[in-house]
Amino acid sequence: MNPTELDHLRTDFPILSSQVYGKPLIYLDNAATTQKPRSVVEAISTSYLTTNANVHRGVHHLSQAATELHEKARVDVARFIGAANEREIVFTRGTTESINLIASAYGEVFLKAGDEVVVSEMEHHSNIVPWQLLQQKKGIELKVIPVTDDGRLDLEAYKNLLSERTRVVSVAYMSNVLGTINPVRDMAAAAHDCGAVFVVDAAQSVPHLPTDVEALGCDFLAFSAHKMYGPTGVGVLYGREALLDQMPPYQGGGEMISHVSFAGTTFDRLPYKFEAGTPNFIGSVGLSAAIDYMERIGMDQIASHEARLTRYALERLGAIEGLTVYGRAPERGAVVSFNVGQIHHLDIGTLLDRLGIAVRTGHHCAEPLMRRFGVEGMVRASFGLYNTTSEIDALAEGIERVRRMF
Ligand code: PMP
Repeated sequence: MNPTELDHLRTDFPILSSQVYGKPLIYLDNAATTQKPRSVVEAISTSYLTTNANVHRGVHHLSQAATELHEKARVDVARFIGAANEREIVFTRGTTESINLIASAYGEVFLKAGDEVVVSEMEHHSNIVPWQLLQQKKGIELKVIPVTDDGRLDLEAYKNLLSERTRVVSVAYMSNVLGTINPVRDMAAAAHDCGAVFVVDAAQSVPHLPTDVEALGCDFLAFSAHKMYGPTGVGVLYGREALLDQMPPYQGGGEMISHVSFAGTTFDRLPYKFEAGTPNFIGSVGLSAAIDYMERIGMDQIASHEARLTRYALERLGAIEGLTVYGRAPERGAVVSFNVGQIHHLDIGTLLDRLGIAVRTGHHCAEPLMRRFGVEGMVRASFGLYNTTSEIDALAEGIERVRRMF
């Protein structure tokens, strides 16, 4: 992306030209949620204004129009991530719900006391706590892949953790703290060799890298629309059809049934079996518009633009005295977490905010990882397709200013 293209693209995001405290907004909190292009917001408002009706059960025109848009979104998602068909695409509220669904429904049928689930020390709480709930319910054991000093998964340790007791391996494709891109394809192959299924938390990777579930060889993959320029409240669970077929429903209610009687209820076909209640059919249309937006720019273009930003940020921030970057993996995405000397991360975030710079501070929903690096929290700058090197310059200058205040 050249500077003119980037300037043009930024006009798709009206919020980026707003000001905070009289300063131009510099939005570097994309790993938490991204801003939305006009086309996504317009797709949502057009749906509400012209095709709003409940999906799947109406014979009337509007209901059918809404259903068509909702089901087209499912086809778009399937294509975007290389799924075999749209029956493998379950709409959820987001990554968190997708992982809870797997732990609950897959765990229900396939896991028993003594079975092992492997996660890693760099997981988001969303990929830890659902498995801990299953641990309490079923007596499974949770094994943890350690993280190396430079922020990679210790793959030797991973191989040693795998055994015939391993039933599930669940790891992030890209860390929301360290930016590390994990070798999930090789890790999935190793998991399969011992008969386990492989779950990918793709919340951070789908917005930044091309995704192909077939090439990754994963069994499940979870992500959220709001981190990929789409709306909040909608996300995706991809699951291999043969597995989804054998799993019981996650929640009961309307939409997920075939027939209901007090003598016994039968469930709908895939993927509806997992979609109890009125789905977020406006959100799915927004997600489809977000996919369209990203595809028009091109995932390879997005990835290379963000790789350039990350390299630049590491160079600029790395030159600041007393600044420690956490995570130095060679394969990494657009997230840089750091601390500066003894300055509290919250102070840095608060002072940067006064300069119009939005970064995130705290434990980033990864407390075990904070413990691993012996810190309470970190400052995190995370980039999206619309960020620029001059915004990174402003961040570096802002940090220097904060540093001089202490
Ligand atoms: N996993 C990772 C790696 C994440 O970064 C996040 C969001 N910070 C989640 C899971 C949870 O996503 P959501 O809150 O959208 O469900």
